[in-house]
Amino acid sequence: MSKTLRLILGDQLNSQHSWYKTIDDSVTYVLMEIRTETDYAQHHIQKVVGIFAAMQSFATTLKSEKHQVEYIKLNDENNFQSFEKNIESLISKNNFTHFEYQLPDEYRVDLMLKNLCNSISISSNAVDSEHFFTSRNELGNFFEGKKTFLLESFYRAMRKKHNVLMEGDKPLTGQWNYDGENRKKLPKNHKPILPLVFDNDVSGVLEEIIKTDINTIGTIDAENFVWPINREQSLQLLDFFATECLHLFGSYQDAMTPNEWSLYHSRISFSMNIKMISPQEVIARVTEEWEKRQNEIEYNQLEGFVRQIIGWREYMRGIYWLKMPEYATMNYFNNQEKLPDWFWTGKTKMTCMKDAIDQSLKYAYAHHIQRLMITGNFALLAGIHPDEIDAWYLGIYIDAFEWVEITNTRGMSQFADGGIVGTKPYVSSATYIDKMSHYCGSCFYKKALKVGEKSCPFNSLYWNFFDQHQEKLRSNFRLKMMYSIWDKMDPMQKENILIQADHYLSNVENL
Ligand SMILES: Cc1cc2nc3c(=O)[nH]c(=O)nc-3n(C[C@H](O)[C@H](O)[C@H](O)COP(=O)(O)OP(=O)(O)OC[C@H]3O[C@@H](n4cnc5c(N)ncnc54)[C@H](O)[C@@H]3O)c2cc1C
Ligand code: SF4
Repeated sequence: MSKTLRLILGDQLNSQHSWYKTIDDSVTYVLMEIRTETDYAQHHIQKVVGIFAAMQSFATTLKSEKHQVEYIKLNDENNFQSFEKNIESLISKNNFTHFEYQLPDEYRVDLMLKNLCNSISISSNAVDSEHFFTSRNELGNFFEGKKTFLLESFYRAMRKKHNVLMEGDKPLTGQWNYDGENRKKLPKNHKPILPLVFDNDVSGVLEEIIKTDINTIGTIDAENFVWPINREQSLQLLDFFATECLHLFGSYQDAMTPNEWSLYHSRISFSMNIKMISPQEVIARVTEEWEKRQNEIEYNQLEGFVRQIIGWREYMRGIYWLKMPEYATMNYFNNQEKLPDWFWTGKTKMTCMKDAIDQSLKYAYAHHIQRLMITGNFALLAGIHPDEIDAWYLGIYIDAFEWVEITNTRGMSQFADGGIVGTKPYVSSATYIDKMSHYCGSCFYKKALKVGEKSCPFNSLYWNFFDQHQEKLRSNFRLKMMYSIWDKMDPMQKENILIQADHYLSNVENL
């Protein structure tokens, strides 16, 4: 009799997958909590707990639908703590005759599963995870023969192909991109909506983790775990976003303010990345909401959001599969410094950095501009090695999986890929941070000062960055204006700025 073993990875909790359409007693699904996955990075405790809780909930649902499920818990005696060993053991114990898996999103896991399939004695095959709009190679094919990989052209092609916000062959409203109308600062007395949070009791999952010596970061309230751990909660969060946040999403997508951790962002990246919900249903839900409330939800809010999902998210996945494994070694500026210890504690006098790090430790979440223009910006200006920065981002965020973390971190944020993802490095002085946030007023440092004991570190480090990397950056058309300002600056002032930057870089642990 043929018996099939199907592996479900922790980020493949897609209950809508065609695998589950038929109940078949000859098919067993296996999910496993293993040390190779808890230990490949130092993860935030909420990330480990969140994934395990969601896996357990998924397994319970499958069982209730009468699927055959094998769930290997972290501290089970029969847990060999690796995919390969657990699978080999299951095959030999249960006489499986065939092994199947869904294509993983990570290069490392892809390689491991291919090797495993070559080494086992039974037949095997891989199927699509039925989640993304694009296949792994679609972006590579789209840009074949091109030297640049412009998000905008990929995004437009995706809109056309999937008929999203289109009127025939033309973009709805006649315009593709409404970026110019978005990105406002929050008005001073504006009170953002309170985020929808859950109160999941995940203390049982946490207890099992505490029994081990898994090294994690951050804090957790395990009796009131705020993140969704099943499809129902994920859909609830999506609904909350569509009804309560979408109307201001674009306007305030780049805004930052102390002690407000989510503003009008959707916080659905965790649910999507572990596939509890799909990008197709996200697009459908927000479009439906806009269609119902066109008099309340401006089109630019919707378009800005759709671009993140069908544009950026798919684009990053495509770049990952096109450029791995080389991508993980890229270091265009040859940066070599270590990440300051306060990235792990939040103990810095820089209000913007403290706020972004504190909330990351507390919620395993920061929104895009905090990641890009606060922590990422500082790390690039300080010349930190991209490996160090990747390790931090891969660990600290609940939504961090290598395919979307490394392309954003090494690529978009650190320009370590030399311009594959971004056309210029995302760096800024205090001017941008102050323009988009309410941080500077309460900071120990002074946003207007470039030199002196209280000068904002972002200011001198910013000019130091352009000075240091002239050879690589001066010819970049988008940086022409910066170099023209730098060239015209009084030589004495330039020297003082560089001395100040040098002082800060030598004392980076004390900032
Ligand atoms: C340095 C750095 C590291 C990042 N690491 C990750 C990561 O590990 N995992 C991750 O999912 N995102 C990552 N991002 C992208 C983005 O910051 C997060 O997707 C977003 O903050 C998640 O919060 P949200 O769901 O509230 O997003 P929203 O602001 O509500 O946006 C909606 C959705 O759009 C998608 N999206 C938006 N921007 C991007 C982007 N640049 N790349 C891919 N998808 C995007 C996400 O799925 C997100 O859920 C990173 C960005 C930077 C600058
Ligand atoms: S003054 Fe500088 S360090 Fe302080 S909050 Fe503003 S940008 Fe950040």
